[in-house]
Amino acid sequence: MSAESKKAHNFILSLIDEAIREGKHTGKVVTRFPPEPNGYLHIGHAKSICLNFGIAEAFAGECNLRFDDTNPEKESQEYIDVIKQDVTWLGYQWAGDVRYASDYFDAIYDFAVELIQKGKAYVCGLNAEQMAEYRGTLRAPGRDSPFRDRPVDENLALFQAMRDGKYNNGELVLRAKIDMASANINLRDPILYRIRYADHHQTGDKWCIYPMYDFTHPISDALEGVTHSLCTLEFEDHRPLYDWVLENISSPCQPRQIEFARLNLNYTITSKRKLKRLVDEGHCDSWDDPRMPTLSGMRRRGYTPESIRTFCDMVGVNKAGGTVDMGMLEHAIREDLNTRAPRAMCVMRPLKVTLTNYPDDQTETLTLPVHPQNPEMGTRDVPWTRTLFIDREDFSEAPPRKWKRLAPDQAVRLRGGYVMTCREVIRNAAGEIVELRCEYDKATLGVNPEGYKPNGVVHWVSATDSVAVDINQYDRLFNSESPDSDKDGDFVEHLNPESLVRLEGARAEKSLASPGQTLPYQFEREGYFFFDEQASTAGRPVFNRTVTLRDSWAKTNS
Ligand code: ATP
Ligand code: MG
Repeated sequence: MSAESKKAHNFILSLIDEAIREGKHTGKVVTRFPPEPNGYLHIGHAKSICLNFGIAEAFAGECNLRFDDTNPEKESQEYIDVIKQDVTWLGYQWAGDVRYASDYFDAIYDFAVELIQKGKAYVCGLNAEQMAEYRGTLRAPGRDSPFRDRPVDENLALFQAMRDGKYNNGELVLRAKIDMASANINLRDPILYRIRYADHHQTGDKWCIYPMYDFTHPISDALEGVTHSLCTLEFEDHRPLYDWVLENISSPCQPRQIEFARLNLNYTITSKRKLKRLVDEGHCDSWDDPRMPTLSGMRRRGYTPESIRTFCDMVGVNKAGGTVDMGMLEHAIREDLNTRAPRAMCVMRPLKVTLTNYPDDQTETLTLPVHPQNPEMGTRDVPWTRTLFIDREDFSEAPPRKWKRLAPDQAVRLRGGYVMTCREVIRNAAGEIVELRCEYDKATLGVNPEGYKPNGVVHWVSATDSVAVDINQYDRLFNSESPDSDKDGDFVEHLNPESLVRLEGARAEKSLASPGQTLPYQFEREGYFFFDEQASTAGRPVFNRTVTLRDSWAKTNS
């Protein structure tokens, strides 16, 4: 099968396919995913990961994982470790070892010297303010720096002195000598190197000068033999500089930069800088808070790698920006879990039910399917006892019309069990309902009752043979569609105050005390819930709501 027929909606795949068919591209296809280790990966990065690794897979090529680590002050080993874990979790394997742009600092330095020797780079002493002033604007050309015509020997000596630590932060920079009048501001003698006295997580204190992204990136691509350098649209205007760098150094090859639209998702944000604020200011607990759109947050919430890959496929890859509806991501996880999540019952707000006609010392074991449509997933044992719990919300003393749950003198079926009828409501001194006394109908296991009709089906657990669990009911992090686009306010003003509702002391089937499996459960009638290993303590499991059974945002909030 040609790669194109597999993913026709991906224009980059089509471009490469065509180039191969026309003989314009020969040899292996090599791509790379180049995160900067200055934060956790988010759902936007997943699009880039799926694209880069997907293209490599489609053409039996290779995709590298390369840390773009040229800003040591903002980067850390913690971020590197999590990013590697996230890429692996999504189901991708990079070619060879993990790479670092910092692996190439020596080579990049040598290429800078080469540019100086060719008269194509110079050491400039303008300060940041002057630099901005000389740069000009979109309408007005820039002016040449007074240092632009410094002789080659002097540039070489100064650049060496920068490296040797003879100058302070910001005192000197190395700039490319291109064109201060270019319509493209990126070509107005961009900075190639700056002085930064900062310890680097990979290179320690070896360097006090660091190359800029626009200089580092093309060189790193070329040194790795990358054939297609895929990046987001904001780099379109940098492409002439990308090409200029490789054309003016003795580059081993000329990778091709192709841009695509970033993924924007409504009801959340996809900017590491802003996500970091959510953590630093305590709006979320951590980078892997299940409300965060980070891959590690989504993993803790119960998103599967399959659902994220399906979502990225659904979104497609194109040149036109736009915002994708959160409902689409939620749809992807619902669909995935609906087909394979094991079923279980969990009563969120337990209300005690006593079956007055069931012997006190008796227990029977009901056998329920793990998944009603997938018999091969097996069965589970659910104990039926004299006292049970149902959800408070499944009982009403004064039920509205068409009530499908329990009410005085009415009957419901307990899912997978018997039909019972409510005979008496017990209250405490404060007048609150604390117990229902019901009669069960022992002729109704798996068959309809004779002569009357139950109101509906509710979920339940044994009161004496179940486990107490805590539930994090997560919802969307923001209650505004585009928290980011509030020009007068701050995006944090749009946080959803109900993004986390915690329920303590819910009751679940006892097998949930230590779930030995990696998928969320479908808690019947409630939604999908994932065991949170990190938050659970011995004997007290915590479950995170991945997503509700149905989209409650589609109608009410748009
Ligand atoms: P942020 O703005 O969140 O810091 P970034 O682009 O600076 O994102 P990088 O670590 O540089 O983050 O990103 C690594 C790769 O992922 C880059 O190639 C980048 O283009 C891509 N990427 C980042 N965000 C998105 C997004 N929202 N949609 C698609 N690709 C993205
Ligand atoms: Mg970046």
